[in-house]
Amino acid sequence: MVKHLTIQQAMADTHSRHVLGLSGGKDSAALAVHIKDNYPDLHDKMEYFFSDTGAELSEVYEFLGVLESYLGKEIIRIGSERPFEHWLKVHNDFLPSPKQRWCTVNMKLKPFESYVGNDDVISYIGIRADEHRDGYVSTKPNIKAVFPFKDDDLEREDIYQILRDSVGIPKYYEWRSRSGCYFCFFQRRDEWLGLKRHHPELFEKAKEIERKSGNGYTWVQGMTLDQVVELAEKKEKEKGLIFSDKTPDKLKWQRVLENMEEDDADDQACIICSL
Ligand code: SF4
Repeated sequence: MVKHLTIQQAMADTHSRHVLGLSGGKDSAALAVHIKDNYPDLHDKMEYFFSDTGAELSEVYEFLGVLESYLGKEIIRIGSERPFEHWLKVHNDFLPSPKQRWCTVNMKLKPFESYVGNDDVISYIGIRADEHRDGYVSTKPNIKAVFPFKDDDLEREDIYQILRDSVGIPKYYEWRSRSGCYFCFFQRRDEWLGLKRHHPELFEKAKEIERKSGNGYTWVQGMTLDQVVELAEKKEKEKGLIFSDKTPDKLKWQRVLENMEEDDADDQACIICSL
């Protein structure tokens, strides 16, 4: 059972390492900003890190650069040192899935555990006050968890405000509700369509991986990526989400967000990758 601390208890701990994992997503980024702006002593000793799977969107790297400048500290890059394709071979070409999350284990969890080693560590996690879920913080007894947004009663709109006032909101949120690998199987159909439109070369790469994968498995159960985006386009038309070039950007942004079911059950499963 992972031990949870309050932020006051965490601040009083002068012996442990303090770490904050950035996923490239909005909540962990807002947490780093919140710590820097409100807990400068903690910020000074905080180790900000990013688990790089090598399959992130270019927008994520750009955003990390902006965040790094704002924090005035290096964001330490950790990772498995092997690309996804290596792990796919190790798993006999079977694609990862919500039930077979070897990607998270090999490309996120193990690098994190190896990074912290056997040191006593306090891990800061960006779960908000309006969320009811636990984040992965490892079952290792030397790792304790803190949820500063819960302690400070900060909810979704507060998180957006923190980002608007500092580093901005990562660009890919205009078409995707989470960070993580470009081929992440937790994506919804409209996000696959967003990938095709914004990063056609990555969409083609994901299709290629799907074609070569073992036993005819697909990223989305029961259909190929081409079928997924076809359905997404159909649904988009039905919902009237096609914008003309004259639609103001602000309106596009609001309507896309309204149609995104953020914080759905799948997000809970992917918390270490997308928080
Ligand atoms: S983002 Fe998705 S594909 Fe990437 S490691 Fe996490 S669960 Fe796996």
